[in-house]
Amino acid sequence: MSEKITNWAGNITYSAKELQRPYSLDGVAALVADSARVRVLGSGHSFNEIAEPGAEGVLLSIADLPPVIDVDSEARTVRVSGGVRYAELARAVYAHGLALPNMASLPHISVAGSVATGTHGSGVGNGTLASVVREVELITADGSALTIGRGDPRFGGAVTSLGALGVVTALTLDLVPSFDVEQYVFTELPLAGLDLTSFEAIMSAAYSVSLFTDWREPGFRQVWVKRRTDQPLADFPWATPATEKLHPVPGMPAVNCTEQFGVAGPWHDRLPHFRAEFTPSSGAELQSEYLLPREYAVEALHAVDAVRETVAGVLQICEVRTMTADEQWLSPAYGRDTVALHFTWIEDTAAVLPAVRRLEEALDPFDARPHWGKVFTTPTEVLRERYPRLGDFRKLARELDPEAKFANAFVRSVLAD
Ligand SMILES: Cc1cc2nc3c(=O)[nH]c(=O)nc-3n(C[C@H](O)[C@H](O)[C@H](O)COP(=O)(O)OP(=O)(O)OC[C@H]3O[C@@H](n4cnc5c(N)ncnc54)[C@H](O)[C@@H]3O)c2cc1C
Repeated sequence: MSEKITNWAGNITYSAKELQRPYSLDGVAALVADSARVRVLGSGHSFNEIAEPGAEGVLLSIADLPPVIDVDSEARTVRVSGGVRYAELARAVYAHGLALPNMASLPHISVAGSVATGTHGSGVGNGTLASVVREVELITADGSALTIGRGDPRFGGAVTSLGALGVVTALTLDLVPSFDVEQYVFTELPLAGLDLTSFEAIMSAAYSVSLFTDWREPGFRQVWVKRRTDQPLADFPWATPATEKLHPVPGMPAVNCTEQFGVAGPWHDRLPHFRAEFTPSSGAELQSEYLLPREYAVEALHAVDAVRETVAGVLQICEVRTMTADEQWLSPAYGRDTVALHFTWIEDTAAVLPAVRRLEEALDPFDARPHWGKVFTTPTEVLRERYPRLGDFRKLARELDPEAKFANAFVRSVLAD
């Protein structure tokens, strides 16, 4: 009996019986050209049916293509295969004295899959991971290769594309000079008294700041502050320094987490919360996340606090992060400086969904866009209202994929007229 193919969390079993893993670009092109429906699976860290190919569809992985990581030190760019994971990419970039400006909470995820869903880290001056992409190389529906770079009018749709335009075989990313980071953890930041000015000051206190709470109390249990060593050390008077190494999820081993207590280390060993060699997060979980204009941050936190009991009952941890506006049409940060409210739930879908709905009602007034790769129940008509460039993306998808070969039920519901 063949093994079932599931996502990382195990809450989604893909209907495809086999994962097709071509060894060459020609193999990918031939498979795409010969198939009626195709979806690409990255590292499978999404929590919903975004990668589900449908009953007759082919589920394709590019993980067996020869990996390419070509760093151009002079131009400060890297050309990387779509299936490479950030941990591997970061090591190669670091070896050239260069850096990615930001990373997500874990380095285990693939580059193409991450930018396809608008994946992000934190920092008032940092964009989503997609914001450093300068060029995308695709195999499109007829098996032909296409490169779309910045400056091409289609570029706004090409990176955060939900896998709907083709197989992303490689991407070229902008790099910056390498930098070191010190990570400090603080505890007990109350919600009472938090206004937009103090929220902005807290989130701007360092290069990347995250707030964590289990919503059992109205406030934050932990604040993770990631300071670049080449930037000034600001006081952090809002919370108390931790006295032991901590995992953001209560009860989980801190050994899984990146170094704390201000021990300086390279960017890729500090920007993710979780170390590449350990299971990230809790491992038995579902996740949801809502991204809204940053000026609504404090009001939105109070709105979550008002439904705290419903949320806390099925929650492992909530994380609050920030990012700058970007220009990808389907990015949850499109056109607005953003605050992201993330929820790591227990792994029981039936118990979690009512809390997700309640939370979505609470966040409705704040123009919240759900993370494309996580659990949400936002009706598609609401989703469509929240993405002003969705019509442009639909046009682009039809132009590149007239037979909707790369569209699955998830994508069709988002793109329907
Ligand atoms: C423990 C954990 C922690 C996380 N932390 C964060 C975080 O800090 N910040 C955040 O924003 N998100 C976070 N996520 C969510 C995660 O980053 C996204 O779900 C992301 O899409 C994962 O990338 P992937 O390669 O696993 O994508 P997959 O789930 O494999 O695929 C996602 C989408 O990308 C498409 N895709 C993948 N590869 C290709 C390709 N080569 N060509 C075309 N389409 C492709 C798929 O078809 C699908 O539509 C986390 C997830 C987990 C499990």
